[in-house]
Amino acid sequence: MQGLVLCGAGVFPGIGVPPVAVSGAMAVHHFVDARRQRRLLQEVGILAA
Ligand SMILES: Cc1cc2nc3c(=O)[nH]c(=O)nc-3n(C[C@H](O)[C@H](O)[C@H](O)COP(=O)(O)OP(=O)(O)OC[C@H]3O[C@@H](n4cnc5c(N)ncnc54)[C@H](O)[C@@H]3O)c2cc1C
Repeated sequence: MQGLVLCGAGVFPGIGVPPVAVSGAMAVHHFVDARRQRRLLQEVGILAA
């Protein structure tokens, strides 16, 4: 299916909260580049400007 991106324990790098978080970040990177992610995190107050 075109445009489908998976994340979670069922895909690389695998089971466990840290690997699942990494696969979530990898999935996000597919859609939103690192600079834009940083800006979004700053906008919602998770990351200091
Ligand atoms: C008992 C146990 C202990 C663990 N201990 C640790 C630990 O100490 N450290 C560690 O790093 N990892 C641990 N893990 C592993 C870790 O919990 C998992 O690898 C991680 O939570 C997987 O995340 P996930 O988002 O892929 O899936 P999940 O956390 O399982 O999230 C999937 C979500 O999708 C929902 N869902 C499922 N089907 C549907 C549907 N059809 N529609 C809508 N929603 C749906 C579920 O309800 C669930 O909320 C443990 C796992 C278990 C079972």
